[in-house]
Amino acid sequence: MTVSLMPTYARMPVSFERGQGPWLWSTEGQRYLDAISGIAVCNLGHAHPKIAEALCDQARTLIHTSNLYGIALQEQLAEKLSALSGLDNAFFSNSGAEANEAALKLARKYGHSHGISHPKVIVMENSFHGRTLFTLSATGNSKVQQGFEPLVDSFIRVPFGDGDAIEALQDPDIVAIFLEPIQGEGGIRIASDEYLKRLRALCDQRRWLLMFDEVQCGMGRSGRWFGFQHADIKPDVMTLAKALGNGFPIGACLARGAAAEVLTPGKHGSTFGGNPLACRAALSVIDILSDEHLVQRAAALGETIRSAFQEAFKNNPKVKEVRGKGLLIGIELDAPCMELPLKALDAHILINVTAERTIRLLPPLILNDDETRHLIDTVIGVVDAHTGH
Ligand SMILES: *Cc1c(COP(=O)(O)O)cnc(C)c1O
Repeated sequence: MTVSLMPTYARMPVSFERGQGPWLWSTEGQRYLDAISGIAVCNLGHAHPKIAEALCDQARTLIHTSNLYGIALQEQLAEKLSALSGLDNAFFSNSGAEANEAALKLARKYGHSHGISHPKVIVMENSFHGRTLFTLSATGNSKVQQGFEPLVDSFIRVPFGDGDAIEALQDPDIVAIFLEPIQGEGGIRIASDEYLKRLRALCDQRRWLLMFDEVQCGMGRSGRWFGFQHADIKPDVMTLAKALGNGFPIGACLARGAAAEVLTPGKHGSTFGGNPLACRAALSVIDILSDEHLVQRAAALGETIRSAFQEAFKNNPKVKEVRGKGLLIGIELDAPCMELPLKALDAHILINVTAERTIRLLPPLILNDDETRHLIDTVIGVVDAHTGH
């Protein structure tokens, strides 16, 4: 690996040059099953012919103009996302952190418009919201923050899942609650439906915004289009990115009701955000997810994979828990296992570990039955070998 790159990543000793569906081929000509999808990005697998065609066609037609002008594809995409989510409108960015930056700015401005000059946002322990200064300040992981102080200090942190801790807060400067309905980096932690409903009711009572970071769990991966839909409530603000463009960079901040009217001309923007090429990619992603019923497929595959793991590991004392929703799957071990992804390379599968001891699987939603069986068998083999079972 070249020393011309800033050493920001501890990279695995493999590089890929080609992909097809859930498979990747390394520069050494070896084939790997991708059970992480570029971290929940390539939900439709690699080199999807319809996305490739949409991107090529759009590149030959129009890549970029500017948000100084109308962009029909951006309006179409906003309409589709609004219809799917029940929110009212959308702002487009190029990444998850930027989508969250928009949401956090929106919350502050909402506060100012209610006479609150130092607005505060409630955030969760073990959350992840990105690497910009505002979003890393919101993130509940001191490793992400260390060395970048002073942080933006307008956050109140509470334990994930603890409704009482929030209800007890009496600070009049609070304007919003911001959380992932399913924590990804935090170890595949699922907020219960009752908890999310309680947060909705609290926000209604106190005129706070309920804001969901669905950058990782959104776009069908959880077995519903959006993670919050499992709880049958609606947020005021939701952010998306990762799978929205299947690898083409695009993020979105959607809003509803009063929150949809907060960011007015001159208050936020992005040069690239929502350009025709990015929106064409995302429109194509939504069409494929709908036409091929892949959201339902994610729910069914998740059930199959989790129950196979539960059965295989039921007598393994070193496996603490198998959990997840749809194709966000966590296998928590009883000890740190950060070296497992490297070992799994020998078994030709790409997996990942979060929160030190939780194996995270985020396979593409297009897995066929044979590929699903292969994933199950390979992961069981890797875990059995690691735990000596
Ligand atoms: C990945 C992620 C982000 C950050 O997205 P980037 O595109 O890397 O900026 C934010 N929130 C969640 C929940 C994520 O998983």
